[in-house]
Amino acid sequence: MKLTFYGAAGEVTGSKTLIEAGGRRILLDCGLIQGEGSDLRNRAPWAFDPKSIDAVIVTHAHLDHIGLLPRLVKDGYGGPVFATEPTREISHIMWEDEAKVRDEDTEAGIEPLFGQEEIDATYRLLRGANYGESVRVAPGFDVVFRDAGHVLGSAFVEMRVDGLTLVGSGDIGNDRVPILRDTEPMAEADAVILESTYGNRTHDGSEAGREDLLRRALIQTAERKAVLMIPAFSLERTQEILYELNGLVEGGAVPKMPIFLDSPLATSLLPIFKSHPECFDEQAKVLRAMGDDFFSFPGLKITHNYRNSLAIDKVKSPKVIIAGSGMMSDGRIMRHLGRYLQDSNNLLLVIGFQGQGTIGRQIVDGAEAVMIDGHTVPVRAEMRQIESFSAHGDRDKLLHWLKSSGRTPGHVFLNHGEPEAAESLAEGVRQTGEAGQVDVAMEGKEYEF
Ligand SMILES: [Zn+2]
Repeated sequence: MKLTFYGAAGEVTGSKTLIEAGGRRILLDCGLIQGEGSDLRNRAPWAFDPKSIDAVIVTHAHLDHIGLLPRLVKDGYGGPVFATEPTREISHIMWEDEAKVRDEDTEAGIEPLFGQEEIDATYRLLRGANYGESVRVAPGFDVVFRDAGHVLGSAFVEMRVDGLTLVGSGDIGNDRVPILRDTEPMAEADAVILESTYGNRTHDGSEAGREDLLRRALIQTAERKAVLMIPAFSLERTQEILYELNGLVEGGAVPKMPIFLDSPLATSLLPIFKSHPECFDEQAKVLRAMGDDFFSFPGLKITHNYRNSLAIDKVKSPKVIIAGSGMMSDGRIMRHLGRYLQDSNNLLLVIGFQGQGTIGRQIVDGAEAVMIDGHTVPVRAEMRQIESFSAHGDRDKLLHWLKSSGRTPGHVFLNHGEPEAAESLAEGVRQTGEAGQVDVAMEGKEYEF
């Protein structure tokens, strides 16, 4: 079996792994590279011929795992794309949203990476599978999707070919987050491709701590008559924040104030969440059975168009604004940051991973000012992080998950992590003896085992 990493090697975006085994060429994820300088890289010629691929498997619907699929199809791929059913449904919305963002390219006279035609063509290639079901993706190549507990529909995949089992972790979720089930145990595997986003970090805070931090932030926002900004990833983190707010508001634990969901993408994903209760954890299932729609509670206001978003400015504080993007690199949160970040009375709640080169990362690293839309904005609002909301498992979780199969894999490849995180996790895996051999994946390098 041969593996080649064409992305997410030494970085956290652009997941693309070519698996060659049993005379087949399978692509695991086909993600967009994000962050500074990514546009050129996303437009670079393919390192492999798209027409030579027999099947594509996608782990979940984040753009850094699915975002380049329509380009793959545009450039000649016409085979099947396998995913879980929620991932299939979410992908279409994610691509359309990305294409909308990239409309600016068209206006600037640059050919967009992909358009509606490619999105629709790619969607037609998607086949939705159930968790636990064995799916033949190519002759002699079987795959089972298991719940990764990362976002709705997320999976790690067990791939069986040539008498070997390879596990691709995709992104591994944090335990005890709202709505989702915890990550299923890993299968006995000969080799594992393991993400390492938080390979050098341990999240602070517990489940109870998370709710308490959120509750206190809301109470202080009310007391100070402040603005609480929550930049959130549109898929999963936003829905989880709504779930927690639903409990706090309906339980009377926080003062009444307007809570704006200013994220068209997150809003358009709500119906998909509601239509997949089979993916919920026990607590979310109980709430649903009791008739509680946890995406609806007193004070929640959803902005359906840009005019509604602008109108938030006129609403008196205290108020809460939940908006994307989660790393504060674009989206509606930028306008709110430009307006409210400079006031020391306000609060900024950071709940997710902040990648290198993003404004979110600058703020977390203590920047005194950031550039937003060409203007210097002083960072005076009080910033707090709630790591226990993170979408990714921390170092302990990743090591524990690796151990969960009960059999030490012969080979572990670490991808999807900045170099320090991946190296640190590699050291951890070596120390705990959880693999025969550990490699930090390098871009373009072939690994044979
Ligand atoms: Zn992800």
